[in-house]
Amino acid sequence: MPGASVRTTCPYCGVGCGILAKASGAHAAEISGDPSHPANSGRLCSKGTALGDTLGPGGRLLHPLIRRRDGTLRQVHWATALDRVADGFSAIVDRYGPEAVAFYLSGQLLTEDYYVANKLMKGFIGSANVDTNSRLCMASSVSGHRRAFGADVVPGTYEDLDTADLIVLVGSNAAWCHPILFQRIAANRRTRGAKVVVIDPRRTATAEEADLFLAIAPGMDSVLFCGLLVHLADTDHIDRDYIEARTSGFAAALNGARALAPNVVATAAATGIAPEKIAEFFALFAETACVVTAFSQGVNQSAQGTDKVNAIINCHLATGRIGRRGAGPFSLTGQPNAMGGREVGGLANQLAAHMGFAPAEIERARRFWNAPRMATREGLKAVAMFEAIGRREIKALWVMGTNPVVSLPNGSAVREACGQLDLFVVSDNVIATDTIDAGAHVLLPAAGWGEKDGTVTNSERRISRQRAFLPLPGEARPDWRIVCEVAQRFGFADAFSFSSAADIFREHAALSGFENDGTRAFDIGALAELSDEEYAALAPVQWPLPKTAPGRERFFADGSFFTPDHRAQFVSPVAPGPRAALTGHHVGHGRLSPAAAPLLNAAERQAIEPVDLGQWPTDRRRGYTAGIHRGMVGTLRQRKVRTLRRGRSAHVDSRPSRSMCS
Ligand code: SF4
Repeated sequence: MPGASVRTTCPYCGVGCGILAKASGAHAAEISGDPSHPANSGRLCSKGTALGDTLGPGGRLLHPLIRRRDGTLRQVHWATALDRVADGFSAIVDRYGPEAVAFYLSGQLLTEDYYVANKLMKGFIGSANVDTNSRLCMASSVSGHRRAFGADVVPGTYEDLDTADLIVLVGSNAAWCHPILFQRIAANRRTRGAKVVVIDPRRTATAEEADLFLAIAPGMDSVLFCGLLVHLADTDHIDRDYIEARTSGFAAALNGARALAPNVVATAAATGIAPEKIAEFFALFAETACVVTAFSQGVNQSAQGTDKVNAIINCHLATGRIGRRGAGPFSLTGQPNAMGGREVGGLANQLAAHMGFAPAEIERARRFWNAPRMATREGLKAVAMFEAIGRREIKALWVMGTNPVVSLPNGSAVREACGQLDLFVVSDNVIATDTIDAGAHVLLPAAGWGEKDGTVTNSERRISRQRAFLPLPGEARPDWRIVCEVAQRFGFADAFSFSSAADIFREHAALSGFENDGTRAFDIGALAELSDEEYAALAPVQWPLPKTAPGRERFFADGSFFTPDHRAQFVSPVAPGPRAALTGHHVGHGRLSPAAAPLLNAAERQAIEPVDLGQWPTDRRRGYTAGIHRGMVGTLRQRKVRTLRRGRSAHVDSRPSRSMCS
C-alpha cells in the first residue's frame, strides 16, 4: 500500500509517540515523527527513527507450523493448525478442567488482541490463567495505585512534566528508556528553570543532567521517602486541610515512617546518601509546590516495589500535590501497551474493564458477555503460572508475542517447564525465539508492526491508533483474528464474530461504560458507538471518556478517589527486606560474554556500575541468551532486527543514548 503517510504509533515504549509512516515497497517505510501527536509533537528517539530498518522479511514466521515427533517443524494449512489448538485445549479442559490451561500475553499486543484473549479465557473457557509480561514491569505500580487510590490510575499527564518546577526521577533512566519525555523534562529545566533530582544507585545518563543526584543504596527508596514524609510533617510543609478532608491513614503512615527514618541523619545512614544532600532534597521538595515524582523500573522491579510506590504517593498526598497541573506521582510505563492490556484485564487478578473478582463484578461481566463459563477467582500470575506448568498442573499454554524463557526469572526452569506441556502454542512473527526453541508444538504466524490495526494506551492514559500500512506477509494474521478463529472452533462463534479491530474496540468501550456510573476509573463509553470510519480516523484521546459525563485531563482534581469512602489511602511503610538475588543474565555479569555485551548495548555497558549496585534484576528481559550461549554473536544483530519488527521492546537492548535522540 504505497502512497500517503499513515498516522500510527511507535511500538517500543510507553511514551507512545506518534509516527508518520509511508510505505516504500512491501517491506520498507519512511518514518518520521507525527507533529500532531501530543506525546511527542513530531520528535522521535533513535528507536522510533530506526523503525523503517526493522521491516525486512528475514526471519519471519510466515506460515503455520506444527512440530513433528522428531522435533522438526512442518508447514500446515491454517485450518489444521487452528484445529490442533482448539481440539487440544478442549480435550485438556474436558479432562482436567479449565485451570489446566493458560494464556501468557504481551505488553506489545494491541488492546483489541488482548481483549479477545482475555474474554475467551475468563468468560468462555472459565479460567483466569491469563497473565502478561507487563506484570514484570508494572505490577508494583498497579498495586500501589490501587492501595492509595482504589484504582489502577496514573493521575497526571505529560504536560505536568512541562510545567512542574521540580521533577524527581526515581529509579528511572529516562534519558535512555523514555527519551522523548526526558527531552520534555530537559526543555522545562532549560526554559523554565525547573530543578531535576535523580535518585538511583547508578550514575546514569539521566543523572548526568540532574541538578541533584542521590546515589541511593539499592532497595532504600521507600526509606528515603519515609524520611521525606517525616521532614514534611516536622517542618509544617503538609496540607492539613487536604489530609483531613480527602485522605485516610495519615497518622499511622507518619508513625511508621518515623520508625524507619526519623530524621535526616537516620535517613542518610539507611540510604547511603550524604546527609547534606538529603537535606537539600527534602528542602527542595518541601518548598516547591509543583512537584512531579516520576518513577520507573528501578522502583517497580523490586521485592519492595509496591511499598516504594506508596512511599512516594504518601508524600504527594501529604502535601495535596496530586491532580493539579504540574504536580503528582507519575508512573512511567515501560512497554507500549502495558496500560491498554490492563484496561481489558490482561492480568490474572483482573477481570476486564478495571473490574476484579467480586461477585457483583463477575456477574456484571457474565451478563455483558453472555458468558457460559465465567472464571470466578483470580488466576495464576506469571511466575506462579510457569511454576504450575513445571508441576504439570497446567498442561496447555498459549504464548502470544513474548519470550518468557528469556524474560522471566529462572529461565532454565521456565524452559524446562515449557518442554513438559501437552500442548504448547506460540503465536509470533519471528520463527526463532528461546521460547519457540523450548519445544513449541504449534507456531502461528502473527502480524507485525505496520501490518496490524488497533489501539495502544501510553503512560498518560492516551489511547492512540496503530494503523496498518504494509501488506500482511505470507499467511500472517492479526492476533485478534487468530484468537477469534480458535474461539469459534471452541463453539463460541456468536461471541467472537468480530470482523475487524473496530468491532472489538466498540465492545471493549461499551463494557468499560457498562453499569459504571463513575464507579470505575476506566470508562471510554463515549467511544462505544464509533463508526468504522470514525475508528479509522480516531485521533489520540485520553481516558476517561464516559458517555454521559465530560472527560477530564487529570484524575483526583476534585479530591475524590475510587476507594469505598472516596478518600485516598496513606499506606504505612514496611521495613525493606533483604534484596532478591540478581539474575545471572545481567549484562556484564555471568552469562553474557564481555564481547557480546557491547554489541547489545554499548552505552549501557560503559555506564553500568558493578552489578551489585543494579536495581534492575530483570535485565535478562533483553534477550538473546540462546544466541549468546551458542556463540552466535554474529547473528545477534539480525535477531535484534527481527525481534524489533513486532515491537518487542521489552526483549531488545536498544536503548539510545541521548546524543542519538532527534
Ligand atoms: S521508543 Fe519511546 S520515546 Fe522513542 S520514539 Fe518510540 S515511543 Fe517515543
